[in-house]
Amino acid sequence: MTSETFTCATHGEIDPACVCKHLLENPVQQWHCGYPEEDEPWPDAWCSACNEIFEREGEWNENNEDEISVEMICGHCYEDGIARSVARLDDAAQADWDRHLNIQCAELQVKQDAMTANLKINDYPRWNYYQESAQLVFSGGELPDLVADVEFVGTLSTSSNTWMWSWANFSLLEEVRSRIEAVRGFGEEHDYPHLTVPKWAADMQDGWHMTAIAADTLGALGAYRVPTDNGFIFMVILSAKHRYPA
Ligand SMILES: [Zn+2]
Ligand SMILES: [Zn+2]
Repeated sequence: MTSETFTCATHGEIDPACVCKHLLENPVQQWHCGYPEEDEPWPDAWCSACNEIFEREGEWNENNEDEISVEMICGHCYEDGIARSVARLDDAAQADWDRHLNIQCAELQVKQDAMTANLKINDYPRWNYYQESAQLVFSGGELPDLVADVEFVGTLSTSSNTWMWSWANFSLLEEVRSRIEAVRGFGEEHDYPHLTVPKWAADMQDGWHMTAIAADTLGALGAYRVPTDNGFIFMVILSAKHRYPA
């Protein structure tokens, strides 16, 4: 990554990212790149054709670097481009993905009904979450307080209408996003781009769908959604126990 700034017609002056010219021309295809890191939000990316050239050497070196045409783009445009890549599936793959979502959604509903009946989480007037301990605490009810171990799945922004996986959200403490990478791994295995692209255009239903998949992958009891200033945090409840007064 270079440190020189770059001026984008849409987004102004910003740090640049590097992509192959094919992704710049058509972002709705697979992006071959690493995952965002806190100090490298926009890792170098290239298309499947360029990836074949990359794979020949297993790296970019003097034997293949002349064969890729790299372009600089602004970081926000990079995010917009990779976000669009979730629409890259062909009809058969899209149908498989839709089917998977429906199954997971139905399974979460069953879990959710059982969890609500067993733990009576709707009977508590208050909840608070604590990122340091990855706990969601229900309190103020007739029953003893209920302490749930949670993993944050992601956030839905209702101002930008986007879903962002917690594994890409470095404003969250690691304690609440240490296990969610398993869902990304499942996405890699099945080539489900919605599970491997950090952020994409989404609505509330998408938030529940991603949470349903996370609940299945992580073996959760159910899920919970809490409001934020500009949307919602979706979490899964991995276990829960009552806290009896000492
Ligand atoms: Zn390319
Ligand atoms: Zn831009």
